[in-house]
Amino acid sequence: SLTAGVVAVQGDVEEHAAAIERTARAHDREVTVHEIRESGLVPDCDLLAMPGGESTTISRLIRDEGIAPEIRDHVAAGKPLLATCAGLIVASSDPNDDRVDQLGLLDVSVERNAFGRQKDSFEAPLEVAGLAEPYPAVFIRAPAIDSVGDAEVLASWNDRPVAVRQGPVVGTAFHPELTPDSRIHGLAFFENEAARVPGIEEAQ
Ligand code: GLN
Repeated sequence: SLTAGVVAVQGDVEEHAAAIERTARAHDREVTVHEIRESGLVPDCDLLAMPGGESTTISRLIRDEGIAPEIRDHVAAGKPLLATCAGLIVASSDPNDDRVDQLGLLDVSVERNAFGRQKDSFEAPLEVAGLAEPYPAVFIRAPAIDSVGDAEVLASWNDRPVAVRQGPVVGTAFHPELTPDSRIHGLAFFENEAARVPGIEEAQ
């Protein structure tokens, strides 16, 4: 059985946990989901999600709690991380904002709130590399990706990248935990060829 972690200092934690459970069921896998608010839990996790929320707050709390280096080690070990919205900003190499202490796990620079304010939240049918049908992507004060280094662009909206992958890390500007469609979690955790996680193969 798999152990999953959702970084739970802020944001759509329960929704991510539910999406992970749903996705695991769809892949005939058992999973236990832990909410990560302190250090010491991440090393036991096979896969991790870092939700949306406020990137300044999330980055500060994971740094202060000593969770940030554990997330870096998790990715360095080739284990999957899905970073969504504010999570993408925190995972980036350049958040263009001094108040965000980035993890540098995705070689992208981002622009916070690039798609407008809260009232400008929207849903869009997004073409995503690796998915046969468009994905119903919910954008809420979403960041856009300005420039991409080593990461691979999986999806763009209005000519701006909004989903990227770099090895075991998938980052999305939108919120895949807010729709019942589990394909992004599936892509990040169960079908990411770029990750090839030994731990997960062994557990099967
Ligand atoms: N606007 C938030 C930030 O910049 C991200 C929004 C979200 O996660 N829904 O941190």
